[in-house]
Amino acid sequence: MTLKAVLLILDGLGDFQYRKLGVKTPLEAARAKNLNLMAKTGETGFMFSIAPGVIPGSDTAHLSIFGYSPKKYYFGRGLYEALGAGVELKEQDIAFRANLATIENNVLVDRRAGRKSDFLKSLFEELNGISVEDVTIIAKHSSEHRGVVVLRGPGLSDKISDVDPHKVGVPISYCHPLDDSEEAKKTARIINHLMHSANEILERSKNNALRKDHGLLPANALLLRGAAKYHTAEPIYEKTKAKFSCVAGGALYKGVAKFVGMDVVDVPGATGDKFTNLRAKLEAAIKAKENSDVVFLHIKATDSFGHDGDYVGKKQFIEKVDREIISGLMKNFDVIVVTGDHSTPCKRKEHSGDAVPLLIWGENCRADKGTFSETNPSPTLFIRGEDLINIILNKIELLKKYGE
Ligand code: ZN
Ligand code: ZN
Repeated sequence: MTLKAVLLILDGLGDFQYRKLGVKTPLEAARAKNLNLMAKTGETGFMFSIAPGVIPGSDTAHLSIFGYSPKKYYFGRGLYEALGAGVELKEQDIAFRANLATIENNVLVDRRAGRKSDFLKSLFEELNGISVEDVTIIAKHSSEHRGVVVLRGPGLSDKISDVDPHKVGVPISYCHPLDDSEEAKKTARIINHLMHSANEILERSKNNALRKDHGLLPANALLLRGAAKYHTAEPIYEKTKAKFSCVAGGALYKGVAKFVGMDVVDVPGATGDKFTNLRAKLEAAIKAKENSDVVFLHIKATDSFGHDGDYVGKKQFIEKVDREIISGLMKNFDVIVVTGDHSTPCKRKEHSGDAVPLLIWGENCRADKGTFSETNPSPTLFIRGEDLINIILNKIELLKKYGE
């Protein structure tokens, strides 16, 4: 019998202490008996997913945790979002992460159209297939306010600026070429034209009329960022001789997993938000185990609570994960690794460069005297993300000796 491992990433898990939580972090304040039990009998420590002090994006952090240095394998967020949304990319395509947003008198008032996804799928469909010059636009909704836009046509470049200004109260930025090439100039021109056409189509859409009837902000502007060309990487199976599956809700995580050649499982009800169906994800992970050595299980909501500054919500969500997922994993996997891809402290409402807590439990583990927390008094592991896969493969006895 071969040993099976699950790598559970609670996105943005790491945090700071809050007085209202009894000077504890959300993870420390959570009543999480299963996680505590694993910490008592497992190995604990800290991980910097990229390097000490580096503030990771979720995309670069996951690449690093899967053993693919982001310095070499990060090509812009659009690539991973498009792969995760199930767009079949071609050689010359340029892919973008897309938000539908709200503008009023040309000023951006909400970058996520109120974070309400009603009718967004249909609105993305209205943009799908339009053309600008000799370029066709592929537009696809993924989850919540998120989606993907791909430009398909000759002579395009990823060397262009983002139009997403990343803040409200200002107009959407013009797209500029970032080098002198004809390709970059053409791509910037097409994006500026597309911004205008998308706004017109969205403004007169009946789906936006329906949003207004429901008291929602209109999703009347397209925000693009993270331009990326199509790239491939050596599959993780070739590198490790181990089989990996991915169970995730968000397109970005499925996309990074697909990029490194994991088998990506579709889970109905895995929405990538706080209403995600955790039990469905647990069942999918147990099923995925049949055909893989390591199952990567991603849960996003911890990060969203961090971005919203909601430390009580974050604590309660960790309790829910402990109740609905952890004991099921303990019954079904030989080795369990729980960690985050980075910290998203509620106090900062953004990612930070602080280490994330790490817990490894099961076969071939020593019981250290540490805790699974940001203030672990007795950690035995201090690692970078790039070492994690080797550590897991060692535990499930799939590593070969290095030397004689
Ligand atoms: Zn993340
Ligand atoms: Zn985040």
